[in-house]
Amino acid sequence: MIKEHTQVWNNCLSVIKKNVNPQSFKTWFEPIKAIRNDNDILTIQVPNKFFYEWLEEHYVDVLKKAIHTELGSGGRLEYQILVDNHRKIGKNAPASEPGDFSSEQIKNPFVIPGIKKLEIDPQLNEQYSFERFVVGDANKLAASAGQAIAANPGGTAFNPLVIYGDVGLGKTHLAQAIGNEVRARFTDKKVLYVTMERFTNQVVQSIKNNAINDFMNFYQFIDVLIVDDIHFLAKRPKTQEIFFNIFNALHQSGKQIIMTSDRAPKDLKDVEDRLISRFKWGLSADIQAPDFETRMAILEKKIEEENIEIPMDVKEFVCFNIKNNIRELEGVLISLIAQSTLNEKEIDVELAKEVIEQFVTKVNKELSIEFITQKVADHYSISLDKITGKTRKREVVVARQLSMYLAKEHTGSSLKVIGSAFGGRDHSTVIYSVQTVQNMMDVDPLFKDTVSDLQRELALSIHQ
Ligand code: ADP
Ligand code: MG
Repeated sequence: MIKEHTQVWNNCLSVIKKNVNPQSFKTWFEPIKAIRNDNDILTIQVPNKFFYEWLEEHYVDVLKKAIHTELGSGGRLEYQILVDNHRKIGKNAPASEPGDFSSEQIKNPFVIPGIKKLEIDPQLNEQYSFERFVVGDANKLAASAGQAIAANPGGTAFNPLVIYGDVGLGKTHLAQAIGNEVRARFTDKKVLYVTMERFTNQVVQSIKNNAINDFMNFYQFIDVLIVDDIHFLAKRPKTQEIFFNIFNALHQSGKQIIMTSDRAPKDLKDVEDRLISRFKWGLSADIQAPDFETRMAILEKKIEEENIEIPMDVKEFVCFNIKNNIRELEGVLISLIAQSTLNEKEIDVELAKEVIEQFVTKVNKELSIEFITQKVADHYSISLDKITGKTRKREVVVARQLSMYLAKEHTGSSLKVIGSAFGGRDHSTVIYSVQTVQNMMDVDPLFKDTVSDLQRELALSIHQ
């Protein structure tokens, strides 16, 4: 018997609700509507593409879990995007290519298709606020510069502000907090958050569509531009040139620029000197790994937000053991909550130990995307460059898709990170590749064997 779609989705929602915090649930799940359920493919409608990307990037696991609980392991999810002329993204329709936007929209690469008004969606996540950002010695400079900018964008000496540091230490959070705060204080200021990866894709599209002037005009019209992960500029001369021009235009007219990077501007590789020297004009502030007290404060804050209680000894145990990455700290907390709600286990040090062990071993034993790709390259006797490059030759495309699939299955990397490791492809390309490989395995037993062999080889290399 086919289950009725609204019922299916309501049941999914109750699973999801147990796994995400109430605010996220409200923001990301309540607006979703179920459209139909055909052969265990549940179609849900989301308001726009950004929404879809956000769900896929942040909630793919919980969605998968909900769907599998409801529809069994054959259950699938498809999205319908409300304002995108009902274009489907998912199994039937290959997801769009990087930075895809059609020529009518070119003036504003962020405009939501179907909406006429040229309104800029700042692309900010409101969860990333100053309120939720714990300040400690390790991020004090960056945070206070951020506060100063939020009070007076473009009017401080911190222009540009470059926030740099290792992954998972709060660069994106802080940069977005500045944007959110500016919007709260100055309703007329146009704020825009963009990852350098996305910017790069937009440059490529604009060139392709002969619309580079419109593109540059659009960016010059922003008051506070936040560009995340500028190290992504490396080896992209055309993007560097365009970013250079936009940077100059904004800076000259007193607009605020905020950037994040995985290293100090002076250490950026393969980025033109004229850009690096401009990045150094304002303030470069690093974020270091937090000390024990700050880790505790962050954990306490997250616990408070989740509205649960965790004994002191467990909190201390977690903070003693997770030192270098706040995202991991959050990950452990989420697993703890999941374990206690789903498996009804008590949150004690024993459980914390289990969770951390899984976490830490997973992290330490993680295979790198490059290692995986090299294995695939060896198997098909193709060079690594070809796989990460642009070639559309069938054999190379298969190897590329397979590499992405294995990277998705065997590393903890996000779709975004995987996409960028394959020549700056976007996350929807990765989703499409993963689905293609799954489909091929279903119909081609030889291919399935190849995949199993490679997986066995990868498993062996972990245990060496
Ligand atoms: P990065 O961009 O440096 O890789 P993120 O900004 O994505 O790191 O931070 C990773 C996670 O840790 C996010 O969920 C963020 O909210 C959280 N986080 C980081 N720093 C802090 C902080 N100081 N206070 C509260 N949460 C933080
Ligand atoms: Mg980041």
